[in-house]
Amino acid sequence: MTGTASIGVIGGSGFYTLLGRGGEVTVDTPFGPPSDVIAIGEVAGRRVAFLPRHGRDHRFPPHKIPYRANLWALRSLGVRQVLAPSAVGSLTMAYKPGTLAIPDQLVDRTRSRHQTYYDVGAVHVTFADPYCPVGRAAAIAAARTEGWSPVESGTLVVIEGPRFSTRAESHWYAAQGWTLVGMTGHPEAVLARELALCYTAIALVTDTDAGVTEGEGVTQEEVFAEFGRNVGRLRDLVFAIIAKLPEERDCPCQNALDGIALPFELP
Ligand SMILES: [Zn+2]
Repeated sequence: MTGTASIGVIGGSGFYTLLGRGGEVTVDTPFGPPSDVIAIGEVAGRRVAFLPRHGRDHRFPPHKIPYRANLWALRSLGVRQVLAPSAVGSLTMAYKPGTLAIPDQLVDRTRSRHQTYYDVGAVHVTFADPYCPVGRAAAIAAARTEGWSPVESGTLVVIEGPRFSTRAESHWYAAQGWTLVGMTGHPEAVLARELALCYTAIALVTDTDAGVTEGEGVTQEEVFAEFGRNVGRLRDLVFAIIAKLPEERDCPCQNALDGIALPFELP
């Protein structure tokens, strides 16, 4: 199925309506099936594969998402550039709900997830800069054009969940200088790197995490409501980013595995 799509979007359910016309594909992988069937469509003349991260019925909580299957499935369809919109909490009062951020760094605080394809041999991928520089630049440029005032950098700390942070955790993260907190950005990013995919996180702030709020702390209701308010706008933004992605990659991501002997053949 290689060649089915060149761009992959891993995101929420608001993206289906405009992608549906191209059909759907069911993909299996050595790591089991991905979160759901993958919708194929065309955006700005590019073939796009859309995968709902949690499944269409939202059956996978963050720690149960089949991350390895998801990235493998996208690559097997021909995807080389991945856009990953997600809801995040803000660790600073400066970023109110509705803020868009394009992080440039990541801190892994997850603990129960398979986070590598390299289960045999000495295979170590470089991950100093976890996100695609070209994808980030496209996202920032498109966000400005689409009327957002994007935060152009920042550190996303990815927690295990599914619970939200305690106040102490949230204060601690903020004290490190980290600015955003989420539950799904890892291992998605590193698995993309292990398959030499471009990966760009597009973070929509839905709440100010436990530590910076004066109230009771973040609730699920609050997060879903804020995401719902912005999903149409976020979809338009993702489509605008797709239009700005280069057809031929000219970024370090494609060379991430140069000189490395992989324990398997890339899909
Ligand atoms: Zn790249």
